[in-house]
Amino acid sequence: MNYREVSGDREFVARLGHGEDWRSEIEALADEAGVDAAWFVAMGAVQDATVWFYDQSEMEYREVEFDEPLEVAACVGNVSWLDGERFAHTHAVLSRASGQTLAGHLDSATVFAGELYVRSFEEELEREHDEPTDLDLWL
Ligand code: ZN
Repeated sequence: MNYREVSGDREFVARLGHGEDWRSEIEALADEAGVDAAWFVAMGAVQDATVWFYDQSEMEYREVEFDEPLEVAACVGNVSWLDGERFAHTHAVLSRASGQTLAGHLDSATVFAGELYVRSFEEELEREHDEPTDLDLWL
């Protein structure tokens, strides 16, 4: 395990733009507000979603697309630097009209409506390639 103490800095709430990309909206807030590290939660609804599942044997992401309206029952993630850009690592539990859930690493989704809370940290967080997992993890 690798850990550090961080200090909570600023807080933001945002309404995500209808028709915009869910994750891009979070990254746009981080860019505009100069947030270099943060934790966030969000909820709302999307018109479609592309969710990734990491295959731990093949060490690659499998992509699953859902072209249907979904509730964002819960969304959690964080912001850190990846390859010189602010990256919003985003996970979500999505639900269908039936109430069944889908979940995973949210790559993209078209916002129907979304509410976001962001808590930023004074310290900067950065990702770098990790050999054992082949993922980009915090330094
Ligand atoms: Zn993930």
